[in-house]
Amino acid sequence: MSADAIRALPPLREVISRYGLSASKALGQNFLFDGQLLDRIARVPGSLEGETVYEVGPGPGGLTRALLGAGAKVVAVERDRRCLPALAELDEASGGRLRVISGDALEVDAAAEAGVGAHIVANLPYNVGTALLVNWLGSEAWPPWWRSLTLMFQKEVAERIVAAPDSSAYGRLAVLAQWRSTAKLAFTVHRSAFVPPPKVMSAVVHITPAAQPEDVRPADLERITAAAFGQRRKMLRQSLKSVPGALDALAALEIDPQRRAETLSVDEFVAIARTIRA
Ligand code: SAM
Repeated sequence: MSADAIRALPPLREVISRYGLSASKALGQNFLFDGQLLDRIARVPGSLEGETVYEVGPGPGGLTRALLGAGAKVVAVERDRRCLPALAELDEASGGRLRVISGDALEVDAAAEAGVGAHIVANLPYNVGTALLVNWLGSEAWPPWWRSLTLMFQKEVAERIVAAPDSSAYGRLAVLAQWRSTAKLAFTVHRSAFVPPPKVMSAVVHITPAAQPEDVRPADLERITAAAFGQRRKMLRQSLKSVPGALDALAALEIDPQRRAETLSVDEFVAIARTIRA
């Protein structure tokens, strides 16, 4: 049984020392060893039995073990070649359910590698986490190729993703994550859970695609939020001046141009984008 073979693998700390996987700061390496915590992350997307998971940065394979243990097939992209032998052992123990791509996740065609309907689950390297998220959320096709995102971020970034209006965390990332998706903070993770511990706390975010509002061009929404939050202290009549049609849209929607970006709901941003298009 592969679940037993995975459980019988040596502890992660031993794997790290056997393969000399000293943590690289440049690669954002903060490893998780706590099996219960890793299983908890793997449960966030729901049952993974028979599902495909795309994982960025498996490292020595802690989260990968939990995903395979939950019955998933895993396609994982890892930039650090030192991790490959440990991951090969894990592939063998899982009965061939792990495929590792050696390379940079920013350059991999994840949709082609993992296939439509895959869940994305990752303890992301902090230096590329937001870029990957923006890429996944910005998919031209909607619903996108991925079924859900379960991602560990620095807590401050997680808060920006799920932020509500009238808060300092609310901005472009919140609108991007919420206008056609449901974004929730699953739980926070104390910095001491990582080896080595990072300076800040972390949190797991769970995002699922929702219906895309009709007659809205993503590019219009992006232009409006960029302008509005680019000058977030200014009134909309000033910050949106550079976006053709935006001030007329405010008038048509009876949105007070003296308001500031952070007071607008996601629905109001969507309505402005739709009105500009019309
Ligand atoms: N998944 C492991 C865990 O939870 O213990 C490791 C997580 S660690 C925060 C981030 C991992 O991403 C490291 O293994 C690092 O080598 C890898 N990584 C960093 N940049 C990457 C990139 N551009 N593409 C793919 N993997 C990357």
